[in-house]
Amino acid sequence: MVPHLFRSWLVLLAAMVAGAVAVAWASPAAAWSGTPVATCLKRVAPGDTPAAIFASLGGFDCSGRERRWGAGDFWVLSGPLSTDGGQRSLVRSASVYQEGATLYSRGDDGRIAHIAFDRHDAWRRLRIGAFFELPVPVADSRTVQLLWRVKGTTNTRGVVLNPRLLTVDEGQRDDLMLTAFYAGFAGLCLSLLLSNFALWRALRQGYHPYYCAMILCLLVYAASSSGWLGMVTGMDNNLRLKLNVTLLGGAIIGAIAFARVFLGRQMMPEAVRRLTRAVAVFLLGAMATYLIVWPHWPLAIDRLLLVAFSATLALVVPVLWGAWRARVPYARIFAIAWSAPITLAMLRIAQAAGWIGWSFWLDNSTLVSMALEASFSALAIAWRIKVVSEERDAAREKETLARMLADSDALTGLLNRRSFLREAIGDPAPRLLVLIDIDHFRRVNETLGHDGGDEVLRVFAAALREAAPPGALIARMGGEEFAILVPAHLTGLPEQVLDTIRGAQMPFDLKVTASIGSALGVIGTEADWVVLYREADRALYDAKRAGRDRVRWVKAA
Ligand code: GH3
Ligand code: MG
Ligand code: MG
Repeated sequence: MVPHLFRSWLVLLAAMVAGAVAVAWASPAAAWSGTPVATCLKRVAPGDTPAAIFASLGGFDCSGRERRWGAGDFWVLSGPLSTDGGQRSLVRSASVYQEGATLYSRGDDGRIAHIAFDRHDAWRRLRIGAFFELPVPVADSRTVQLLWRVKGTTNTRGVVLNPRLLTVDEGQRDDLMLTAFYAGFAGLCLSLLLSNFALWRALRQGYHPYYCAMILCLLVYAASSSGWLGMVTGMDNNLRLKLNVTLLGGAIIGAIAFARVFLGRQMMPEAVRRLTRAVAVFLLGAMATYLIVWPHWPLAIDRLLLVAFSATLALVVPVLWGAWRARVPYARIFAIAWSAPITLAMLRIAQAAGWIGWSFWLDNSTLVSMALEASFSALAIAWRIKVVSEERDAAREKETLARMLADSDALTGLLNRRSFLREAIGDPAPRLLVLIDIDHFRRVNETLGHDGGDEVLRVFAAALREAAPPGALIARMGGEEFAILVPAHLTGLPEQVLDTIRGAQMPFDLKVTASIGSALGVIGTEADWVVLYREADRALYDAKRAGRDRVRWVKAA
């Protein structure tokens, strides 16, 4: 059952990872409506004017490797726009860290129009998915070329990232799709957050707070990295971008803490534990450096973050290996849970390092992969709770069994004297004590042998069980003497027991009778017990003396 389940999961996971990789490598433009705009780039020189740039068009780098130019102010020039570009009245590009930008358009009559924004009012230009959207500035004529002047960009991912022209309808279609994407993720996060918070309150497992912290960071990360937070708060766009990195780092540190507590010392060797702490501290340090220093030395800081995230990623290998080797189902689900984020994070790091091109999906793969991770982790948590509760149930069962064995008479299965007394003493209600002693048992032993005598004792005990009402305490007090304790009103019981014994089918059809002594009283204390037992025993002795095979009640003193 379990290995089968694992195999299905592995297949599912492989399919998801393959899908994610395929999406990551797909052309970024293919995922979106509109027409991609090819661009070339050139550093802004003193005295440059848009008119002069449009007129000369010289000195531009069209290699597409914008990042090697480093930070600063840039002109970004589009190729000539196709004729149908005229209907596409919007320009979208991915939001990046910059002081501001101005978009110029040149009409076929040579007139230039422009529109500008800066980091403070960039939120008005944000669309869901964190795109800057600008209307193509129009000067009564058909637009033939676009030119951006970007101020104070860190250029760690590009200057104008993936620009495309689109119609209002196309924009709305993209918005709808992305809103669904983020809303789905937010819904998942919220439900995981709520259910795990509730589980934490109920079970008080140490790993739940870290899990919740991780999910909370992811939820806010999604709100921030989607641009939504900027759109509703009107916050500085560069601040929002900083918030993204902080929240992602927070989620990763939450994940590390969760893994440490969840896997514990058994599944995470001491050396790995020390390593995880070191990496978490390093990541914290890198993030603090980023928050203080950025946007200065963007390239160095970018590399620092890259190294820190890569270190976290490298850390995952020994952690997962330990979890997998533990052969505990929930540890294995944990290991599976992390494979998707790992694969996608590797791709993301490759993107950050510039080995593969930027893609919206790859940028947002964090959301997809963390959604997978969070869901699988929730499954691992559920499984762990199941394992723990099963272990607890088994331990309880074992304990009950052990106590039952210690409390019962080995030959007959009735209570033994000790457990009978423990149960009997302390109840203030009046009760009836019935003592039963087999008549001439010595002869039974002589006739049937000791083993035959034992069998008689077993059958005799079964007869007592049959005669006694539910809830009665029935014990073998020792040898061939038994006791039954019931509520005081069941005064017919001694005769009933006698009848049942007489009717019982004994081994070799042996005729076995018993003498019965009964007494009524309260057993609130041990002293009460001694008194009542002595009375019943005296009645039993009376029965023996009167000829056996009969009931005697204690005579009133
Ligand atoms: P009475 O009618 O006066 O009670 O006579 P009795 O023979 O039943 O009484 P007595 O106390 O003299 O003998 C009890 C015998 O029960 C003695 C002992 O060998 C036997 N006995 C005690 N415990 C066991 C047991 O566990 N198995 C068997 N087979 N015999 C037992
Ligand atoms: Mg006897
Ligand atoms: Mg006896």
